[in-house]
Amino acid sequence: MNIPMLDLTQQYQTLKEDINKALDKVMSSARFILGPNVKQLEESVAKYSRVSYGVGVASGSDALHISLEACGIKEGDEVIVPAFTFFATAGAVARAGATPVFADIDPVTFNIDPKSIEKLITDKTKAIIPVHLYGQMADMKAIKDIADKHHLYIIEDAAQAIGAEFEGKRAGEIGATACYSFFPTKNLGAYGDAGMIVTNSEELAERSRVLRAHGSKPKYYHHVLGYNSRLDEMQAAILNVKLEHLNKWNEMRRKNAAYYTELLNKELGDRVITPVEVENRYHVYHQYTIRVKDRDQLQQFLKDNGVATMIYYPKPLHLQPVFSDLGYKEGDLPESEKACKEALSLPMFPELSKEQQEYIVSKIKEFYQ
Ligand SMILES: *Cc1c(COP(=O)(O)O)cnc(C)c1O
Repeated sequence: MNIPMLDLTQQYQTLKEDINKALDKVMSSARFILGPNVKQLEESVAKYSRVSYGVGVASGSDALHISLEACGIKEGDEVIVPAFTFFATAGAVARAGATPVFADIDPVTFNIDPKSIEKLITDKTKAIIPVHLYGQMADMKAIKDIADKHHLYIIEDAAQAIGAEFEGKRAGEIGATACYSFFPTKNLGAYGDAGMIVTNSEELAERSRVLRAHGSKPKYYHHVLGYNSRLDEMQAAILNVKLEHLNKWNEMRRKNAAYYTELLNKELGDRVITPVEVENRYHVYHQYTIRVKDRDQLQQFLKDNGVATMIYYPKPLHLQPVFSDLGYKEGDLPESEKACKEALSLPMFPELSKEQQEYIVSKIKEFYQ
C-alpha cells in the first residue's frame, strides 16, 4: 500500500464545481487584487476567529512580519519564540530587524513552555510569539499572565491551528494579533501562497493594511516603509469556498487522530508516545506527531513499505547556522533538541481511511518486533 503524507486530490474532487465557478467569476470580473473576495474572506475569517478584523496578506510568514512591525517592533528589540517550530516564526522576527530569543518547549505538547519564557525577559523584550504547533494551542493563560505582567505583545503563530481552541477561545482572541497561513498543506489551504492577520485592535488592523500595500496612506503618500504583500482574489475565492468545510474537516482529522491513538496505544503502548490533547483545548491535528526512539530507522522502514512520514522539525532554531551569531550551543534548550530527534509526523488529512491507518500501525508494529 502507498500512503502519502497528505492527499489533496480527493478534497478537490468534492469541491471542483464550486471552486471552478468561483474562479471563473474572478476571471470574468477581471478584478484580481484586493477586491470583493478578499473583503469577504477577511470578514469571514475574523468572524470565524471571533475577532473584529482580518487583514489578508501574501503568506503566513508575512502575517508574522507585518504583525511585528504593526506593533512597532524594530531593531534592538527582543522577541521570545520557541526553538521548536517552523523557521518562519523566528525568521519574521529577524526580518523585522529584532532579535529572536529562543525558549524551550513543554515535552508533552511540543509548545513553548511558559516557565522557560519568564527567565528570558529583559528590558529589551517587546513580544512573545507562541506557536500553536501541530494544531494545539499553547498555554495561553500562563503566557497572557506573563505578557500582562511585563507589558509585552503576544503575536500568535496560528499557521497550523485555524479552528483550534484554548478554554473555548480561538487564536486571535487572546493575543494582540494571530497569524494564519493558507499554504496549500495547512488545514485551510489555498492553491498557492496566502495568509491573514486577525485582531481585535482597530489600530493594529489599520497599520497592517497600510504595511501590506507599500505603506501607502492616503494612496500614493507614504509615511512608513511597507511591502507588496497582498492576498489575491483567486486565492480568496478558493478560500471562501473551502472555509465553509473547515469545521467538518477538522472533525475528520480529530477522528483520525483518535483512531491512531487507539491503535498505537493498544499495540505499541511501550514504544510509541502518542499526542496528548490537554484538557480544555480543542486540537485540530494539523499534524499527528508521535515520539519514538530509533526515529530515523523507523522512518526509513515505513518509507520502504510505502508509507510517507515527515520530520517536523529536524533541527531546532537556536542551532540553525543563520542564527549562529546569537551564540547558542547544543544543550541550551534540551527539550527542543530532544524533540528534533524523536518527533515523527504520520500521514494526516481528513480523508485518510481506517484501512490506511491500520496498515501504517501494522508496519510500525512490524518494525519494533
Ligand atoms: C506554515 C507556517 C508558517 C509560515 O506560513 P507561510 O504561509 O508558508 O509563509 C509560519 N509558522 C508556522 C508554525 C507554520 O507552520
